[in-house]
Amino acid sequence: MSSDPNCIFCKIIAAEVPAAVVYEDDSVLAFLDIGPLADGHLLVVPHEHYIRLTDVPPERCAQMASVLPFLGRAVLEVTKAEGFNVLLNQGTVAGQAVPHIHFHIIPRKKDDLLGYRWNSGKYPEGRAAQLASAYQAALARLAS
Ligand code: 5GP
Ligand code: ZN
Repeated sequence: MSSDPNCIFCKIIAAEVPAAVVYEDDSVLAFLDIGPLADGHLLVVPHEHYIRLTDVPPERCAQMASVLPFLGRAVLEVTKAEGFNVLLNQGTVAGQAVPHIHFHIIPRKKDDLLGYRWNSGKYPEGRAAQLASAYQAALARLAS
């Protein structure tokens, strides 16, 4: 199984660095984020060291995603949150600080002041159709 000796999450998976672990199975570990955005903020990581989501084989990705409903129910119960955000940052430009891919589960409560900018835009005439075609062509190529 791939592991990086310099990776903090690989060290947590190997139990070389302590973490407040909440769940583990054959392929996934979930533990409390050391710098929580909210009380009970979890990280969900694959055992194998993948830097990017786009490197993760589909079956591994499915294993990671499959625990989200289960962990999400525990987050709601334990933190008494009314909802949560599932977040994955890929790339430093997107805020990825730890180069071992991970989902965040961030509990949310009304008026928690967490917030984030969601500055939605509007497509000019034709742009959405152009993008949809480009995506379809790229996906057809990537799937072959
Ligand atoms: P990213 O910015 O890569 O999406 O998120 C990395 C997260 O990992 C951050 O929220 C940060 O607080 C958390 N983190 C970094 N180092 C450690 C650590 O040693 N232990 C734990 N439990 N979380 C960590
Ligand atoms: Zn790692």
